[in-house]
Amino acid sequence: MKILVLNSGSSSQKACLYEIGDALPEIPPLPLWEGRIEWNGDTAAITVRNSKGMVRKKKLKSLPCELVLKDLLTTLWSGETRSIASAADIDTVGHRVVHGGPRFHDPILISNDVHSALAGLSQFAPMHIQSELQGMKTVADLLGDVPQVAVFDTGFHRQMPRVAQTYPGPYEWFEQGIRRYGFHGINHQYCSTRAAQLIAKDLRSLKIVSCHLGNGCSVTGIRAGRSVDTTMGFTPLAGIMMGTRSGSVDPGILIFLMRQHGFDADQIDDMLNKKSGLLGISGLSGDMRDVLAGMDAGNERAKLAFDLYTHGLRTAIGGIAAVLEGLDVLVFTAGVGENSPEVRAATCKGLDFLGVVIDLNRNKELMLDADISSPDSRVKVLVIRAAEDWAIAGECWKLCRCPAAVA
Ligand code: ADP
Repeated sequence: MKILVLNSGSSSQKACLYEIGDALPEIPPLPLWEGRIEWNGDTAAITVRNSKGMVRKKKLKSLPCELVLKDLLTTLWSGETRSIASAADIDTVGHRVVHGGPRFHDPILISNDVHSALAGLSQFAPMHIQSELQGMKTVADLLGDVPQVAVFDTGFHRQMPRVAQTYPGPYEWFEQGIRRYGFHGINHQYCSTRAAQLIAKDLRSLKIVSCHLGNGCSVTGIRAGRSVDTTMGFTPLAGIMMGTRSGSVDPGILIFLMRQHGFDADQIDDMLNKKSGLLGISGLSGDMRDVLAGMDAGNERAKLAFDLYTHGLRTAIGGIAAVLEGLDVLVFTAGVGENSPEVRAATCKGLDFLGVVIDLNRNKELMLDADISSPDSRVKVLVIRAAEDWAIAGECWKLCRCPAAVA
């Protein structure tokens, strides 16, 4: 089965094609083809790579998003990166949908009704959901009535206990859908399964804290394969500090800024989502690599940004370990989690009281899906490559081959 996966964020779109046979492999295979669109103002930079290593790069200016996406997808069956004979070879298309709201949790085939219901959810994450709906329409235009599946980034957290889902505002908030949904669920779930495989233990016996540290960051507690608490909330703005997002701040600050400085909703949105986090504190960049370089050059704000980031991470790990009533595995995943030994070392320093001790030499080696804990560490500390797209492909495979197996 050839499965195309589309991951449309608001400022970038990623796509990849997987082929899955009669059984779902435990270890993610390389995709047959992958492509990415990065937007800078009205310029789209497209990068495509096929399994033979052919790379095509192209820039398109002043074109609507759907035409840029069509340009990207047609490289699947035409040009030097061609990986399939024709569009008809694609059996299923899976979409990462950032927010399922109170109604959608499990992967679902996208019918007209589902598409309309998803449009009704756009209030929860306007930029993301619009772009995801556009992706579904573009696929339908190009590939006709190929089955399309929505996989929700909030779905894994649906079974969090009520106490982890509820905000201590007025009770009506919960009934109005203002509750903690949590995000990065597709990858947190994948990492928990992969962690159990890597240490050859039954997932049902494990208490796992998973730290997804990409441009967005979240920490999730997983017990017996289920999410029990997570740092993101009603929106992906909550929780720990991120690249350009603040994470949780005293809500009184927002009231202060509105009253004293006349800020409106758009200004607050822009400040908290795009001008905060590593960028806001360092004044350099939201990219951890630039912050680390700034620190090396003696920039004090870069050092403060790094310290705030790891301080918040440690607070979250400790809090969630307390909710789990113990800890067996600590996972680092996504761009920063996979690539920054500095962040992992600073986060784990002094966590031996929780049973976490890392091997500083192994931590520095660039290894993925690896155990970096020292032999005397009670807790296994693992670095796991984020594999959202592969996890989405797996869900599509299960849904299309055996719909009853996906409950
Ligand atoms: P997304 O959340 O968009 O999926 P990624 O998971 O790819 O993003 O993470 C992107 C981030 O990873 C970058 O902004 C950068 O901060 C970080 N990153 C990538 N490589 C490194 C590295 N070698 N050291 C530190 N941080 C890195």
